[in-house]
Amino acid sequence: MTPPTGIRRIDERWAWADHGHCQELPDLFYNSEDEPKRVRRRKEAAATKICAGCPVLAECREHAVANGELYGVWGGMTETERHRLAGRVRTG
Ligand code: SF4
Repeated sequence: MTPPTGIRRIDERWAWADHGHCQELPDLFYNSEDEPKRVRRRKEAAATKICAGCPVLAECREHAVANGELYGVWGGMTETERHRLAGRVRTG
């Protein structure tokens, strides 16, 4: 069955994500507010290391920056790095 045009377009927009190396590791790529800062930094370092070898890093980063993703590691960039790039102040 062919999906409605709108749904197909959304799927195509996210096609790159199917190839991300983070597919099975969502907890590593997102911080919880109740985690100590040192734990967050350790998780971010591990996540960005995985991103470095990811075949869709460029697409992922472009998406995150263009859409102002606020949370998590995307395309090898931490929340703080994306906030800085966008000229926002991140205190966490
Ligand atoms: S670049 Fe990082 S966050 Fe993006 S899909 Fe790859 S592993 Fe996941």
